[in-house]
Amino acid sequence: MLKNKITTIAFDADDTLWRNEEIFMQAQSHFIDMLTGYHDKAYIVSHLEKVQIRNISIFGYGVKGFTLSMIETAIELTEGRIQGHEIHSIIELSKAMLATPITLLPNVKETLQSLKKDYQLMAITKGDLLDQEGKFARSEIAHFFDYIEIVSEKKPDTYANLLHQYQINTDEFLMLGNSLKSDILPVLDIGAMAIHIPYHSTWVHEQVTAEELQKYPSIVEFSNISDVLPWLKASAKLP
Ligand SMILES: [Mg+2]
Repeated sequence: MLKNKITTIAFDADDTLWRNEEIFMQAQSHFIDMLTGYHDKAYIVSHLEKVQIRNISIFGYGVKGFTLSMIETAIELTEGRIQGHEIHSIIELSKAMLATPITLLPNVKETLQSLKKDYQLMAITKGDLLDQEGKFARSEIAHFFDYIEIVSEKKPDTYANLLHQYQINTDEFLMLGNSLKSDILPVLDIGAMAIHIPYHSTWVHEQVTAEELQKYPSIVEFSNISDVLPWLKASAKLP
């Protein structure tokens, strides 16, 4: 079989392998309902975003940090008047988020199955360690991956260190993911290949400006994960 240089294909997990953003959006909408007696919807959303972004370097990504940010937002927006039973409802929301069944995105299983024959497969995800481990365990696709890495941030150094750790050259590595900021740009920054698979909604913290994007050559985009199969075939034929 004709093969390109790529030996390892890495995948982001949330909103690349399975649905995730909806779980946060749903919890957020319950949270907004709880506070609409105090403020209007747009103000609650923008305040929650502000608190979340302020807290990322302290709590990291994932449901637990999100929960603490919801509680902090509720306290701030009600000037301390939020009741114990309402905080309890926020914690219940968070437990429901952590127990949400995994919904794989279309063609994920089939694509991994067919790539597995020719490539080393990796998953690189950020978030709560326990939550991400649990999601992989429940996903029924964990066995396709040679390595699953749960990291606290996805910066160029994060990728460089992983490639070094697994002895992978930058020209042998391909990353696929839904977040330009976390999955694509830092990988391009270290000289490796990354392809964007946009998801229908992107959390505000993961958004990048057109100005930031100008620094990069045109970014390859797939509409579905299975597009990687013909792409690999076509790129193998290039000189
Ligand atoms: Mg993602």
